[in-house]
Amino acid sequence: MTGVTLRNVRKSFGTVEVIKNVSLEIKKGEFGVFVGPSGCGKSTLLRMIAGLEETTSGSIAIEGEDVTHVEPARRGVAMVFQSYALYPHLNVFENMAFSLRLARASREKTHQMVGEAARILKLEDHLHKKPSQLSGGQRQRVAIGRAIVRQPKVFLFDEPLSNLDAELRVQMRLELARLHRRIGATMIYVTHDQVEAMTLADKIFVLRDGEVQQSGGPIELYDDPDNRFVGGFIGSPA
Ligand code: ADP
Ligand code: MG
Repeated sequence: MTGVTLRNVRKSFGTVEVIKNVSLEIKKGEFGVFVGPSGCGKSTLLRMIAGLEETTSGSIAIEGEDVTHVEPARRGVAMVFQSYALYPHLNVFENMAFSLRLARASREKTHQMVGEAARILKLEDHLHKKPSQLSGGQRQRVAIGRAIVRQPKVFLFDEPLSNLDAELRVQMRLELARLHRRIGATMIYVTHDQVEAMTLADKIFVLRDGEVQQSGGPIELYDDPDNRFVGGFIGSPA
C-alpha cells in the first residue's frame, strides 16, 4: 500500500525552478527522510505535500488518492515545524486540543485523544502548564502532540529538532523512532543532518538542487552511493 506518491512534481517561484521533476514513493507506515544541504528544496517539497504550497505541475497522492488540488485541512496530513508555534496563552492541554475544538470534537473525544497523546509523549504531568514553563524538548513534544491528536495519515516533520541542543536532539530522535514504531503512521522527515537521516529512515531521499539524487535504505545508500555527492553527503567514500 502506498503512503505518499509524487509524480513529476515541479515548483517554480517566478522564473526560478526550485523543484525539478521529482517522482518518489513512500509506502504506508514507512519513515521517509528527505536529506540534503540548505536550499536544496526540502521544505518546499514537504510544504507541497502538506498543501501549503501549490505544485507548478505534476501530482501528489496520499494513500492512492490524488490530493494535488485538495486543501491542506482535507489531505489527512499534519505538519510539525522547527519553530514550535505553540499558543503562548494556552496551556499544554489546550494547545493539543486546539484542532479538535476547531473540528468540533466532543469533550469526551478531546479528553481521550489528548490524554493518549500526553501518555505517548510523557506530558501527563505538564498538561496545565503554559509553553513558557516548559523546556525546549517538552515544547517540541507538545508540537508533536498537536499532530498526533489529529490522527493524520501522514506526519510531516520539517527539521523539528534543529533548535534543540545536541544531547536533547539525540534523546528526541530516539523518541521519534519509538513514536513511529508505536503508531505506525507514514512519516516524512526533513533534515540536513546525515546522522538523523541514517538513524531514523526506512527510506532516504538525497536531494540536491531540487532533484532526488538517489533514494534507498540507509545501508544501501551508505554501501553503494551512486555518485560523489551522495557518498560525500551520507558520509561514505564514493
Ligand atoms: P531547504 O528547506 O532545503 O533549505 P527550501 O525548500 O526552503 O530549501 O528552498 C529551496 C529554494 O527555494 C531556495 O533557493 C529558496 O530560496 C527558494 N524559495 C523557497 N521558498 C520561496 C518563496 N516563497 N519564494 C521564492 N523562493 C523561495
Ligand atoms: Mg528548510
